[in-house]
Amino acid sequence: MPKTELPDPRVSPRFAGVATFCRYPLLDAVCATSRPVDWAIFGVPFDSGVTYRPGARFGPRAIRDASQYVKRFHMEFDVDVCEVLSLADAGDAPVKPYGIKDTLDGVAAWARAIGDPARTKLLAVGGDHSIAYANLRATWERRGKPKDGLGLLHFDSHLDTVDAVWGERWGHASPFIRAIEDGLVDPKAMLSMGVKGPLNSRSDLDFARTRGVSVVTYEDCFRGGQQIIREFRERLAGRETYLSFDIDVVDPAFAPGTGTPSVGGFTSAEVLALLRSFRGVEIVGADVVEVLPDRDPGGVTSLLAAHVMFEVLALDAWKRVHGGHAHDAQGRCLA
Ligand code: MN
Ligand code: MN
Repeated sequence: MPKTELPDPRVSPRFAGVATFCRYPLLDAVCATSRPVDWAIFGVPFDSGVTYRPGARFGPRAIRDASQYVKRFHMEFDVDVCEVLSLADAGDAPVKPYGIKDTLDGVAAWARAIGDPARTKLLAVGGDHSIAYANLRATWERRGKPKDGLGLLHFDSHLDTVDAVWGERWGHASPFIRAIEDGLVDPKAMLSMGVKGPLNSRSDLDFARTRGVSVVTYEDCFRGGQQIIREFRERLAGRETYLSFDIDVVDPAFAPGTGTPSVGGFTSAEVLALLRSFRGVEIVGADVVEVLPDRDPGGVTSLLAAHVMFEVLALDAWKRVHGGHAHDAQGRCLA
């Protein structure tokens, strides 16, 4: 029996029924059967942390809708994600649109109690990037508050380590400076991938540099990306790692529906391949953020975000199938 039971699309069409993430069952329904849940996926419809264009509060609804066409069998990994993982849609976290810190505290408290804290991993779907702090905090606490903090794979055009904007310390430019200050993330085990300029000033890089965060620009990826990925995968070996994916890391030609677009960058295909190259890393929590449906002609950004969610789940499924075996540069299992 598969770990996640989905409606058969040949019987119940993908365009029918109430839209949950990827048609996964609702968490309450899975819990009622006493089945364990490996990943709880939840929306955080919140965008009061933005510095530019608002609208990401509508992200979870648009991504649920777009995800109806996400299928279950991963061809590159040769794995049926629903056979390996028990997955559920936990609904939306409570938000307070007029209060950023209030919302983050509330989301973290709500997420802390979802499913089985010792087993169920959390995938948050934003919302703007401020919400990453809340899911990071909940994940860190559920993993037993590791003293050294979690590793972090951060895909983004931006560094998100600004101390404050307009006097606000919890906005979407600041989740990782707060997470590092609070010990949730080990900066030396943090990789910010796909960063691109222009920046406000050279000093925007200071925090990351002085704390030892690895910053890999989009251009760097072409000047030795495989080597960087290999080294980082080795550094994260045995390390519990959180994955944070800001959709604006993708070129706005492919993902226009986002609030702080940065031109140039990964194509959809490149970013999916990049995610897959991190197979073997122990992912213990994740988020996909910054989708802005009102700026998303054709729904292409939501569709990509839904597939990024699936790739994150597939990384975990691959890891469970292949265990802790050593891998070659392409991530192939050597055992
Ligand atoms: Mn971001
Ligand atoms: Mn960004």
